[in-house]
Amino acid sequence: MPGNAESGSPSATRRAAETRRPRRLGFHVSIAGGLPKAVGRAVERECSAFQVFCGNPRAWATRRRTPDEIAAFRRERRDADLSPLAVHACYLINPCASDRSVFDRSVTRLAHELSTAARIGAELYVLHPGSAGDRPPARGVRRAARAIARAAERAGRCPCLLLEDTASLRGLGGSFKRLGELVGELESAAPHLNVGLALDSCHAFAAGYDLRDRAEVDRLVEDADAAAGISRVRLIHANDSRDPCGSGRDRHWHIGRGTIGEKGLRNLLCHTALDELPVIMETPWESAEVDLENLNAVRRLIGEPR
Ligand SMILES: [Zn+2]
Ligand SMILES: [Zn+2]
Repeated sequence: MPGNAESGSPSATRRAAETRRPRRLGFHVSIAGGLPKAVGRAVERECSAFQVFCGNPRAWATRRRTPDEIAAFRRERRDADLSPLAVHACYLINPCASDRSVFDRSVTRLAHELSTAARIGAELYVLHPGSAGDRPPARGVRRAARAIARAAERAGRCPCLLLEDTASLRGLGGSFKRLGELVGELESAAPHLNVGLALDSCHAFAAGYDLRDRAEVDRLVEDADAAAGISRVRLIHANDSRDPCGSGRDRHWHIGRGTIGEKGLRNLLCHTALDELPVIMETPWESAEVDLENLNAVRRLIGEPR
C-alpha cells in the first residue's frame, strides 16, 4: 500500500486540498424531537455529512417513522446538501450472539433499521459486528453472516452496510482478519448487499494501532487492505481517545485533546489511502460550540479552510 510519507506535512495537505473538492465532514447528531430536527443540528454544526441513530440505540422497542416525518427529513437534508448520511446501528444488536433470543431480536431489529435507513435515504449503515463470547470466532463469523443476510433479505432495499472496527479485542471487530472473513462470508450469504468497512480512530488506537507513528497507520491500512481491500473502507469516524494505546477501552474524546492527539489523527486522516473519505465525529456531546471547535480542529489537521 502507498504510505503517507508526503501526505502528513501541512503544506502537502494544503496543496492537495486546493485541487480537490472539500472533504465531507460532520457529526453524529441527535434525532430527539424527530428526524427533521437532526438536519438543523447538523447545519448548526456546519456539517457537510452527518450520522444519526434511527431509533433508541439502547432499547429494543422501535417505532415506525411516518411518511410525513421522513418526507420532511429528506427535503431538509437535500436543501442543506448533507451527504453522505450514515445511520449508526443500535448498540443492542449482536449478530453473532449464541443466545437464541438475542440472535432473533438482533435479526428483527437489524431488518427494521436497514429498512428505515433506506427509507430515510441513508447511503451508509454502520454496524458493530458483535461478539461470539466464549465461542470460537470462526463460528461467530458464520453466525453474523447468517444474521445479516437474513435481516437484509427481510429489509429489501438496503444502504451500504459498513462493518466497523471496534475497541475490544474480544469482538469480531477487534481484528481486521475477522472483519475480512465476515465480508467474505457475506459475499456468498448476501450477494446483493453492498458491504464495506468503517474505520474508527479511537477504536483502532484502543486495539493497538499507535496512530501517532506513521508506520502504524501504514500497518492499519495494510491490515484493512489485506482483510477486505482498502476500497471497501467508505467512512472514517474521527474521535480522540481518553485511554492509552492498546487499552481495549472505547472512550471518545475531543479532537486533539486526547491520547491520540493532533499528530495521530492527522496521520490517519491524511494517509493517501484514506484522505478522500468522509469523516464523522462522535466526540462527547457538550454544545454546538464545542462541536464547532472539534470541526475546526479537523479542518486544521487536514489543511482545509474554516
Ligand atoms: Zn465509531
Ligand atoms: Zn466508540
